[in-house]
Amino acid sequence: MTGRGQVSAGDLLELVRSGRATTRGALQQVTGLSRATVGQRLDRLFRAGWLREGAGGPVDSPLGGRPSITLEFDDEHAVVLAADLDTRHARAAVLSLTGEILAEHSGILVIEDGPETVLGELGRWFAELLEKAGHAADEVCGIGLAVPGPVDSETGRVVQPPIMPGWDGYDITGRLARAFTEHTGAPRVPVLVDNDANLMAYGEQRTGYPDCSAFVLVKVSTGIGAGVVVDGSLFRGIDGGAGDIGHIRVGADALCRCGSYGCLAAVASGGAVARRLAEAGVRAASGSDVRDLLAAGHPEALGLAREAGRQVGDVLATVVTLLNPGVLMIAGDLAGTAFVTGVRELLYQRALPRSTAHLEVVTSRLGERAGLVGAGALVVEYLYAPERVEERLAALGV
Ligand SMILES: [Zn+2]
Repeated sequence: MTGRGQVSAGDLLELVRSGRATTRGALQQVTGLSRATVGQRLDRLFRAGWLREGAGGPVDSPLGGRPSITLEFDDEHAVVLAADLDTRHARAAVLSLTGEILAEHSGILVIEDGPETVLGELGRWFAELLEKAGHAADEVCGIGLAVPGPVDSETGRVVQPPIMPGWDGYDITGRLARAFTEHTGAPRVPVLVDNDANLMAYGEQRTGYPDCSAFVLVKVSTGIGAGVVVDGSLFRGIDGGAGDIGHIRVGADALCRCGSYGCLAAVASGGAVARRLAEAGVRAASGSDVRDLLAAGHPEALGLAREAGRQVGDVLATVVTLLNPGVLMIAGDLAGTAFVTGVRELLYQRALPRSTAHLEVVTSRLGERAGLVGAGALVVEYLYAPERVEERLAALGV
């Protein structure tokens, strides 16, 4: 909001959604707009079905006089679709606009089969999920997708992804939008794509740590990646490469899937631990196999997970020194007690006390749903951002 003349319906919606002003009186007070102007702009939001009167009844007005009716975002006028792709399986859901999961499916979907096949299949999953949730396809306002690779968020394309062969530069948003319409017959909707660790961080920060102004999540599964949320927004860097810590060289001689030697992911990821277990004669082919072994208390898996935690903790000491986060969340297949113990050992040993004095090292709250929740939230924040509301209201004819 730059001045009275520029306060739009989108700005008023933002004030209501954030809880900063939830009555007509409060909106007048915060924006300096007249009662009539606030009324006109709110009227458009009511006609679009985006606002409703709160169930709580009237509250005292900040301007005095009669108590006013509270306003709230109507989260039932649309739904969001989200999917989270891992290398060998995927998870998809229908979510409400406030992030509640209304229907969910997980199953095998192999990223190496390529984007055409994988995204086509996701379109089918979405159609089935909408039916399960009892929502029509034309209620869908957008789709969010988490992928295990670096994403250029301007184009939604992945850039040289080490564990997504065949996806480099592919038009993911176009293909997924088409798959959705092919399987549901509904009109195209916007598709947003982001890195999985980014979206997990976004989902966890918003739901569990909304007041934390510097939040870091590290995902350790087949690969290793980190998501950074600063002041409530994802920090992606200028090319979407921020947080891609899996390919920091740690000096070992193991060959990484990116083609280099000695990357952190080549020695301390779920995939790396699985390889070492297999060499020792234990049946393990992937990060999720390691997760199962850890859950069963397998001694060799626990020892290797702790050692992997120490290697990741060494790199995280630098991350924590650079960003001084309030919360460092460890997520993914390896994120159990053994791994986190290893992380703590090296982190507190290597980072300056000032960087860790108020640091909480925690494990995931949302678990395997974090990426879905983050993807859904990203779509909602995009579509209801003040700068996009005007255009969307116009398209609805209100
Ligand atoms: Zn690498």
